[in-house]
Amino acid sequence: MTKQEQQAPFTLDGFEHSVGDPACPDCWEAYPRPHGCGGLMHAAYGGEEGDRDEWLYTRCDRCGESE
Ligand SMILES: [Zn+2]
Ligand SMILES: [Zn+2]
Repeated sequence: MTKQEQQAPFTLDGFEHSVGDPACPDCWEAYPRPHGCGGLMHAAYGGEEGDRDEWLYTRCDRCGESE
């Protein structure tokens, strides 16, 4: 494996997101948002389920937490 400057691809719901990129092109609307750990919280549209409202997949590109 060759060493790359960028980190390994960060995937959310099957889409690759740009780690550390505040203008991540694959994020949902107002995301990514800064997370308390210093990383960015990315989001992908999760869909609508039954009587639930639309929901999002969220995950921080640094610590891995979701909102
Ligand atoms: Zn993203
Ligand atoms: Zn975090």
